[in-house]
Formats: sequence, structure tokens, C-alpha cells
Amino acid sequence: MSIRFLWFYLAKALMKVNTQDKELINLAQKLIKKRKGRYSTVAAAFRTTDHKFFFGVNVEHIHSSPCSMCAEYSAIGQMQSDDDYEVELIVALRADGTILSPCGKCREMLRQFGNPYVILKEKNDFFKVRLDKLIPYRELNK
Ligand SMILES: [Zn+2]
Repeated sequence: MSIRFLWFYLAKALMKVNTQDKELINLAQKLIKKRKGRYSTVAAAFRTTDHKFFFGVNVEHIHSSPCSMCAEYSAIGQMQSDDDYEVELIVALRADGTILSPCGKCREMLRQFGNPYVILKEKNDFFKVRLDKLIPYRELNK
């Protein structure tokens, strides 16, 4: 697939975020801005189909990147601890407001918990897109 095709494919799937979606972005920003630890630079926030919120931060391992844990994994753990399983919306961001798209490992893991919208940012506009549009040829077919 060419980059041009990928952009066209994704652009058709992008949706504007609403006020409730922006609330999730604000909650994630508050979480990562209050962090004092030096091993966490990313926050993830989930809203489930039961309208519950779950949060997580990444944990970086200083000597071994593969041993680090993404913020999404941390939020999944919190969600599982509360016996909730269906994610509706997700955002991951840095303290400076940079929105991050989930890595491939997180995309595969998140697909076990529904087909949530993922918040993205293009220039100064927020958008959301279904996870299956970011990972169309996923390993897990459900
Ligand atoms: Zn990840």
C-alpha cells in the first residue's frame, strides 16, 4: 500500500471528537502533568461502554526498552481489576499534549477489549478513528 492510499483510507474513517471525548483528553493531561516520577512520560485514559474511566501511565525501564510497559497496558490492568472489558474510547498523550497512537503491541492487546475509538491529532484538530482502521490486518480476528 502506498502512503497516499493509506492516508485516503484513514481520512475517510476519521471523525471529529465531541465534548465528552475532550473530557477524556483533559483527564489524561491532568494525570501526566501531575506525575513527578522520571520513568513515566505518557498517560493513557480509557472510557468504557459502561461509561467508566480508567487510567494508566507508562513505566520505562532504564536499561532495557523491551521491559518497559506502555500506558495502555497499565490502563488495561486497572480496567481488568474493576472487571470491565469493553473499551469505547482511548487516548494516550505526553505532558506537552502530544497525542500518541497506540503501538502495534497495544493495538493487538486492545482488540481483545472491543473496537474502541482512538483519539488522534492532526495539526491542531483532534479526531477519532476506530481501532480496526489502524490495524486492518490484525492477528486476532474477532
Ligand atoms: Zn504500546
